[in-house]
Amino acid sequence: MSALAEAVVFMREVHPLVYSFSVFVFGACIGSFLNVVIYRVPAGRSVVFPGSHCACGAPVRWFDNIPVLSWVLLRGRARCCGCTISVRYPLVEAFTGLLFVVVWWRFDPLAATVFSLYGSGLVALSFIDLDTMEIPDRFTIGGFLIGAGLSMAVPSLHLADPSGIYAADALRGLFAALQGAFIGSGLILWVALVAEVVLRKEAMGFGDVKLMGAIGAFCGWEGAVFSLFGGAILGTAFIVPLAVRKFFQGENLLPKRGATAAGEGDGDEVKDDGEEGWRIPFGPSLAGGSLLYLLWIQEPFDAYVHAFAQLLADF
Ligand SMILES: [Zn+2]
Repeated sequence: MSALAEAVVFMREVHPLVYSFSVFVFGACIGSFLNVVIYRVPAGRSVVFPGSHCACGAPVRWFDNIPVLSWVLLRGRARCCGCTISVRYPLVEAFTGLLFVVVWWRFDPLAATVFSLYGSGLVALSFIDLDTMEIPDRFTIGGFLIGAGLSMAVPSLHLADPSGIYAADALRGLFAALQGAFIGSGLILWVALVAEVVLRKEAMGFGDVKLMGAIGAFCGWEGAVFSLFGGAILGTAFIVPLAVRKFFQGENLLPKRGATAAGEGDGDEVKDDGEEGWRIPFGPSLAGGSLLYLLWIQEPFDAYVHAFAQLLADF
């Protein structure tokens, strides 16, 4: 272990509170940057230049740009023009901070660095998907390439029993990443095809297929499998309360196509506008499933699927 990694582990053991707080602050600063990414990348703008500025055009000064804290002190209103600052900004910062704390307790410093990067990418792409219903290729294909590269550089991401011979481990790491990517993308592609036949409409975007490739490269095939099915359950858990609320607000839940829910009557049922109505991006669910897997589910789930695979092999 490098001296830096040893220092990190030492801090974690000797000063757990200072360690957790420092990691949270660092993560929240990354979250602040992710807010910029979420806002600017879909618009095709640079994430570094110009610096942060308010909707009114005034630059945000550094003391009004402290993650989480500034929003609370300003009570969600900009100092320059008094306009509301979305609660999403401090929430993304706080969430990223907490994510980093869990990651830096769960993994050794090397793996924690990799999964901090991975988790940050997932946070950014989830909100971009929520905003635009699209995940840019630089996150999905880029994520796959970075995941495959890091799996070679840090074989312990995938290998429970590294041989210690670097070239051999790097190849096995790369193989695990490719296996994860192909099984992940293939699986969601089949689910999408079946859903398309059953629902008679496009059920999933190709962005989700590419995202599963990135998830598999970082989490291996077991992680990809969990992200898909665990993510679907997670997504449903979030959607049901939202759907109930929307229902009581009298909103139309389903895209207006042919015979949908009663009470439509506004005459545009015949229009083939699958884009209308309530569409739900799947990216955040996959990302959530993947984080759940990495942080808490990995060991029991892997043991379970390996035992199941063994059972099938013996059968
Ligand atoms: Zn302003």
